[in-house]
Amino acid sequence: MIKVLVIGGGFAGCCASHLLSQKGWHVTLIETAPFLGGGCKTFFYGGHPFTYGPRHFLTKDERLFEFLNQYVPMRRFPGHEFLTYVERDPGFYHFPIHRDDIELMPDRDKILGELQGLDGVEGARNLEEFWLRSVGSTLYSKFVETYSKKMWDIPSNTEITDFVFTTKGVALKTGPKAAWTEAISAFPMKINGYDDYFEIATRDVSVHLKTTIDAFDVEHHRVNIEGVWQTYDLIVSSISPEIILNNAFGPLRWIGRDFFKIVLPVPEVFPPNVFFLYYANQEPFTRIVEYKKFYQYEAPTTLLGLEIPSFNNKLYPYPARQDQERAQRYLDALPPKVFSIGRAGVYRYIDIDDIIAQCLDLAKRVS
Ligand SMILES: Cc1cc2nc3c(=O)[nH]c(=O)nc-3n(C[C@H](O)[C@H](O)[C@H](O)COP(=O)(O)OP(=O)(O)OC[C@H]3O[C@@H](n4cnc5c(N)ncnc54)[C@H](O)[C@@H]3O)c2cc1C
Repeated sequence: MIKVLVIGGGFAGCCASHLLSQKGWHVTLIETAPFLGGGCKTFFYGGHPFTYGPRHFLTKDERLFEFLNQYVPMRRFPGHEFLTYVERDPGFYHFPIHRDDIELMPDRDKILGELQGLDGVEGARNLEEFWLRSVGSTLYSKFVETYSKKMWDIPSNTEITDFVFTTKGVALKTGPKAAWTEAISAFPMKINGYDDYFEIATRDVSVHLKTTIDAFDVEHHRVNIEGVWQTYDLIVSSISPEIILNNAFGPLRWIGRDFFKIVLPVPEVFPPNVFFLYYANQEPFTRIVEYKKFYQYEAPTTLLGLEIPSFNNKLYPYPARQDQERAQRYLDALPPKVFSIGRAGVYRYIDIDDIIAQCLDLAKRVS
């Protein structure tokens, strides 16, 4: 029987384990934490469910939605909205930036003038140029400039040179105010979020929680745990490729988040349909999420999650050309039958739907 090692038990590791164990292969999953699910695991605080960061499911691909929906029934949120606080106006406006909101801004005429003179994004070399060419300098400075510098802890957004504007969004919206009119927006119906999927996915998998791999020799398809080398036919890793290749090409740059939970003595604080608030000014936090919006439960109080960029963990790979090139060197160096998946594994800012697509593709490719 084919022996598979899966490294990391987040969404990517669980989904890969699921699909490869369905082939009748023997899958071993190694996870350092005492639980499965990684960033998508639901925790509870004062009875309120939450994940680290929002983790709502967005996709344009009905097939990926259905894949998940068969294991964890999903509730759709067709009208969900995000707002950005712009302190200098002051006011809350929709994000993605909505054309109608420009009418509410004190410098409306200046903005409308700038929108008339745009050259188009063709040839934009970095995030700053992309936004200046999409919406002009006033909207860029209100919504993106400080937010992005804060998000990546960088002095200039010209450093973001590998920015692929997500196909799920648009720079300047018209029509409905909902954040994603083109995509399915959903979240699991049950109070434990995605957690049932992690159990279902690993039903036929040998799971080792709280387990650390002490040494990697992926060239020979083996890892060392507590002094014993174990060899596999196939390795699927969902952790950073620099780790499994022993830092051969130097470190990859990451930024993370410090996450704070705040309970408020009211049943709900955000306006109806508003799921996130973005803060695009000098405040240290980037985003506040009201978890009740996703989990849809009754309680006399509500939980907010507040995120502050930090280097205490590694969650976001840098979308800058030099970082992406270094990551590509790692990925190119992977031996046959060693695969790197998930957000850390491919060193790309990818979402849950992308991860399911990666795993479905992997399961199709390997035999
Ligand atoms: C704050 C935040 C909010 C997000 N919100 C959304 C969202 O709203 N919608 C969306 O679609 N996507 C969102 N994403 C992205 C999406 O959640 C992630 O891309 C996806 O969950 C990543 O899954 P993963 O398995 O690749 O990584 P993770 O969930 O990080 O799992 C990696 C696992 O590997 C384990 N691990 C690490 N090192 C080792 C090791 N050496 N040995 C063994 N195990 C190890 C970790 O403990 C962890 O369990 C968000 C990401 C972040 C950071």
